[in-house]
Amino acid sequence: MSEHVQVCEVGPRDGLQMAAGRMPTDAKIAWIAAMAASGVTEIEVGSFVPARVIPQMADTDDVVRATTQIPGLIVTGLAPNLRGAQAAYAAGAHRVAVPVSVSDGHSRANLNRTPAEQVAEVARIVEWTRAQPRKMLVAAACSTAFGCSIDGTVPEAAVLAVASGLAAAGADTISLCDTVGYAHPAQIRSLVRAARAELGSKVDNLHLHDTMGLGLANALAGLEEGIRAFDSSLAGLGGCPYAPGASGNIVTEDLVFMLESMGFRTGIDLDKLVATRALLAAGLPGEPMHGGLAKAGLPKTFRMAA
Ligand code: ZN
Repeated sequence: MSEHVQVCEVGPRDGLQMAAGRMPTDAKIAWIAAMAASGVTEIEVGSFVPARVIPQMADTDDVVRATTQIPGLIVTGLAPNLRGAQAAYAAGAHRVAVPVSVSDGHSRANLNRTPAEQVAEVARIVEWTRAQPRKMLVAAACSTAFGCSIDGTVPEAAVLAVASGLAAAGADTISLCDTVGYAHPAQIRSLVRAARAELGSKVDNLHLHDTMGLGLANALAGLEEGIRAFDSSLAGLGGCPYAPGASGNIVTEDLVFMLESMGFRTGIDLDKLVATRALLAAGLPGEPMHGGLAKAGLPKTFRMAA
């Protein structure tokens, strides 16, 4: 059997929070269910932040409650603080994703905390979560790990310091995030190698944006360095608040196409996955949709990994 690569769909969170419109709750749930039915086993379905901050996420509680009923689906909710993590737990989320900006400027702008203060918040979340009767995984995400729209260059040593702090805080997994999409493949290779040398397979995931069109090249660099989990969003939904017109996360369909073509199993049926774009378009009319595979169709040469 070929090796498995985990694809985590983040469109309902990262994509929708950037969308101009607001997707109705029922439409979100139906879209998430359809993606799960195509074989997607991990979906970040929303974030637990105040509705006045991100109105598109006001219904995350309901979305988590509904989607945790889908058999076999691991449901993640993003939470920037303990309060959000407690809400994610109460709604039944299997996993909470906690963003920790490595760059000071992004951290203060987004979280109103320094990176060190946010690492301490992760420690509080881990401590609280472990005291609960039900298990909820804590996935820490190192935002702006490859560059920042406010601070510019983010030194590798700064990323490693935050990632080590998160490991010490007890985070179950650590993701390296190209939040604004500035990374290039050589940089991915270097940082992933350094982080895994220090922290091993706890650094298990790359969160990539396609701002510069390098998203899949970056994913390939990560894959070659041993990364076996990637965040992506259907139709490359979303954008980058600091790069108007840019596409969002790497496109799930195109990522799955690359992985399966290379012989990595994802468990995802591409025809069914591409068909879920119709539900996204219906729930969010007029939102730009990206992706090469959906435009060109599956080539006759395509074979799923065995
Ligand atoms: Zn993102």
